[in-house]
Amino acid sequence: MFYPEPIAKLIESFSRLPGIGPKTAARLAFYVLRMKEEDVIDFAKALVSVKRNLTYCSVCCNITDTDPCRICSDKSRDVSVICVVQEPKDQVAMERTREFKGQYHVLNGAISPMDGLGPDDIRIAELVRRLGDERVQELILATNPNIEGEATAMYLSRLVKPFGIRVTRIAHGLPVGGDLEYADEVTISKALEGRRELY
Ligand SMILES: [Zn+2]
Repeated sequence: MFYPEPIAKLIESFSRLPGIGPKTAARLAFYVLRMKEEDVIDFAKALVSVKRNLTYCSVCCNITDTDPCRICSDKSRDVSVICVVQEPKDQVAMERTREFKGQYHVLNGAISPMDGLGPDDIRIAELVRRLGDERVQELILATNPNIEGEATAMYLSRLVKPFGIRVTRIAHGLPVGGDLEYADEVTISKALEGRRELY
């Protein structure tokens, strides 16, 4: 590296982020160098805060700064239906539709044999524990419509069968191979409406 150490270190840090190559990392690092000091400090604080002040909700496993999270502690929400999503950002996408008033469960990943991720690597045990609550009547599987998401939905539907709970899968309108987070609100609402029973 021919750069002075502080900038070389920053370039290296940026290049560890997903989708950031060495060129982009260098561009970002030099951009930071030109930023106002107070903005840089805010940025650095936000980075540290995301690690120090966020935890996982002990009920739904979503990231939260209060435990239980705001949705799990909201008494006005329907406890009979749990919508299962892969990532916190999918929960946000679902919530943006304002259509769904039930509970969530965030798996924090999907089953992916290719990446060596099995059922024990995501928050499935926590979900099963929640099904012991007899108020739960329906599980909506809103994992992504791609190979990992489908595999996860299939696994969950088999696992949940003995509990006698209705299991549905959102499908309609969502692009196959796509990500829930990139779908617009109307598409997600339609997908929720058109959910079908899984057997
Ligand atoms: Zn929660």
